[in-house]
Amino acid sequence: PRETGNSKEKRFLCMFCNKGFSCPQKVEIHQRVHTGEKPFSCTQCHKRFAQACDLKRHQRVHTGEKPYSCPQCDKRFSHQHHLKRHMKVHAR
Ligand SMILES: [Zn+2]
Ligand SMILES: [Zn+2]
Ligand SMILES: [Zn+2]
Repeated sequence: PRETGNSKEKRFLCMFCNKGFSCPQKVEIHQRVHTGEKPFSCTQCHKRFAQACDLKRHQRVHTGEKPYSCPQCDKRFSHQHHLKRHMKVHAR
């Protein structure tokens, strides 16, 4: 490995995201976030997903016109109070 500037401190790099760590054990622990069952995490709400396409689909909820989705049936709503009103159908 090539030595650059302050590479002494964090020369062990995650092979997935290139984050640097000071010892190989730390890299190993960190890399579990990439190699675990759900390596893909949403940058907005930190939900985790097993597939990149699942994450992509999920992230539409943060960018679309209807950001509020019902956790029970995945219906979408543009306003939180619409979702709240809808949730009553699941309440019984
Ligand atoms: Zn990483
Ligand atoms: Zn999210
Ligand atoms: Zn619903």
